[in-house]
Amino acid sequence: MREENIPYPSQRQTGDRIERSSLFSYACGRCGRCCRGTLIQTNPYEIAVLAQHLGTSTTAIIANYLDGVHLRHQGDGRCIFLSDQGCEVHSARPFVCRLYPLGHVGTSNGEESFVPIPPQPLTAGSYGESGTVADWLIQQNIEPMMIECDSYVILFRELFAAFAAHEGDPLGIYDWPEGAATIDMPELLDIDAMLMAECPEDIPITIEGRVARHQEILRKIFGLDPENRVLEN
Ligand code: SF4
Repeated sequence: MREENIPYPSQRQTGDRIERSSLFSYACGRCGRCCRGTLIQTNPYEIAVLAQHLGTSTTAIIANYLDGVHLRHQGDGRCIFLSDQGCEVHSARPFVCRLYPLGHVGTSNGEESFVPIPPQPLTAGSYGESGTVADWLIQQNIEPMMIECDSYVILFRELFAAFAAHEGDPLGIYDWPEGAATIDMPELLDIDAMLMAECPEDIPITIEGRVARHQEILRKIFGLDPENRVLEN
């Protein structure tokens, strides 16, 4: 169904927060403009989903498709996964790609809201109000991914708070729990490498199982509360 194209942002102000019950719909025009020049941040769960989809390891995804925590760009600014046929990893695309053109704002007390993202100039996508934000989440099959991604948001928030609680460069301090002082960003992201190093005889088969084990290990290394791993469904 073609959406009635409601010009943005005349419909609402840029930066307005909306809720699951808010009117929202979007029809992708497959122009690929939102996949050019955009920084797509990834977390270990999303990297593991890409690795499974491409039949490789999280180590290889980090080495071949990421710059830091972001998907790499091709020379013309296109996402590394954007071809003339569209997204080459569509069913395994990261959370922000799935939710686009909405952003998700979560808080540590479990509250959430969504922010409509202003469209790319000349986008072929159509914005409308024929459904709700909740309908959009179902269409994008985003709920399972949101739970896992939120678990890393919680973990990294705690990690950065732990970094901030220590004086100076976290790599240079001496009062971290053993092991924490030498870990760097690729290692933080790389589930397969960490599980191979820490529990090679007992690596869970499912991505969710590996994520849970990865988070347990990180919490142990950095001396974080293991109970905060518990998620609300
Ligand atoms: S992963 Fe796919 S949907 Fe996301 S920016 Fe890249 S090409 Fe676009």
